[in-house]
Amino acid sequence: MALSAQLKSALDRAADGGRISPEEALELYRSAPLHALGRAADAARRKRYAGTEHIATYIIERNINYTNACVTACKFCAFYAAPKSEDVWTRDLDDILRRCAETVELGGTQIMFQGGHHPDYGVEYYEQHFSAIKAAFPHLVIHSLGASEIEHMARISGVSAEEAIRRIHAAGLDSFAGAGAELLPERPRKAIAPLKESGERWLEIMETAHGLGVESTSTMLMGTGETNAERIEHLRMIRDVQDRTGGFRAFIPYTYQPENNHLKGRTQATIFEYLRLIAIARLFLDNVAHIQGSWLTTGKDVGQLTLHYGADDLGSVMLEENVVSSAGAKHRSNRLELISLIRSAGRVPAQRATTYEHLVVHEDPANDPVDDRVVSHLSSTAIEGGTAHPELKLLDAR
Ligand code: SF4
Repeated sequence: MALSAQLKSALDRAADGGRISPEEALELYRSAPLHALGRAADAARRKRYAGTEHIATYIIERNINYTNACVTACKFCAFYAAPKSEDVWTRDLDDILRRCAETVELGGTQIMFQGGHHPDYGVEYYEQHFSAIKAAFPHLVIHSLGASEIEHMARISGVSAEEAIRRIHAAGLDSFAGAGAELLPERPRKAIAPLKESGERWLEIMETAHGLGVESTSTMLMGTGETNAERIEHLRMIRDVQDRTGGFRAFIPYTYQPENNHLKGRTQATIFEYLRLIAIARLFLDNVAHIQGSWLTTGKDVGQLTLHYGADDLGSVMLEENVVSSAGAKHRSNRLELISLIRSAGRVPAQRATTYEHLVVHEDPANDPVDDRVVSHLSSTAIEGGTAHPELKLLDAR
C-alpha cells in the first residue's frame, strides 16, 4: 500500500532524526510497508551513529536469579512460585558469589540480579548482597532490578522509593535494568500483571532514579493481546519521561513466551510485528540512544534482521537465564556465534560495556576470541542440560 504524502513526510522526517507524533507513529506502524519502515529506521540509526554506523554491539553478562518466590503472580510469568509453595527456592550469598566469579572468569562485565518479589526481601537484603558482590568483584557492573522491585522492597522496609534507590545505589547497584515495565498503559498492564504498580508509578520511580543519577534501560513485553495503539502509547510514555530525564540508555522490546503460564499462549506477537516495533521504536524514540533486538525471545535470524530495522545492539551472551527460558524461550548462543551473526548481518561486532562504550571491536576475524566456554545458559535451571560448566563449577567464591 502506498503511503499518503503526509505519512511519507512523517517517515522522511523520522529517518532524518526529526520527531514524529504518536498519531503519526501509530499510522506508520499500522500501514507503512515493512521495507520502507526498515529503511527509514536504518537511516535514523546510521545518522545517529555516523562514523561508527558499521558497528553493532553485544555484551557478556549473566542473569543471577536469587529467588523464584513472588507475591505478584503476573499472568505471563512462568518463573515464579507462590511463597508458601514447595517449588520455592532461594540462592544463598555464597552461591551468588560463585556465579559472579564464573562471570568474571569468562570475561563477563555485568550481572543482572533478577528474582521474584519475595515477601521478606526489603532494602536490607539488596544492600547486603550488592555490597558483598562489590567487595568481592569491584569491577563487575550490577545492572539490575527495576521500578517494581523498588516499589516492593520499599514497602517491605517501610521507606520511600527514593530512599530505597539511594541505599541500594550506595551499596553497589550501578544502573537499573528496567525490568517490570511489561506494558505501561493501564488496560493491558492490568490484564497481565494486576498486582504490579501502575505504569505511571513505574515511570515515576524510574524518573526518581534518573534524578538521583542512576540510569536505566527500558523494556517492553509484546504479544499478550495489547493493541497497536497500546504499543505506541507505551513508547510515548517512555519518550515523555526521557524528554525530562535523559536517563533511559536503551529500549529493549521482547516477546511474550507461551509456555507454563496462565495466559497459555493465547496471543503472541508475530515476527513481522516485532520487526515493525523495532523500526518504529528507532523512529519514534528520537531521544533514546540504543535499540536492542532480542535474539533470546525471537531467535537468532530475527536478531540479525533487527540490525537492519534500526537496532544497534544484539544484547547479551546470557551466560545464565531462567526467566523467559522457563516460559519456552529455547534459543541459545555463544560469544563466537553472536560475533558471527553480527558479522554476517554486514556489521562489525563490538563487545560493549553496560554504558555502551566499545570494549573490543572485532575488526579482523583472524583476531576473534577463541574461548569457547563463553556460552549462553551455561548454568540454568530452565533448560535441560544447562548445568554449570564443569571446570568453572569448582571456582570458590572469592
Ligand atoms: S514477572 Fe516478576 S513480579 Fe511478575 S510474577 Fe514473575 S517474578 Fe513475580
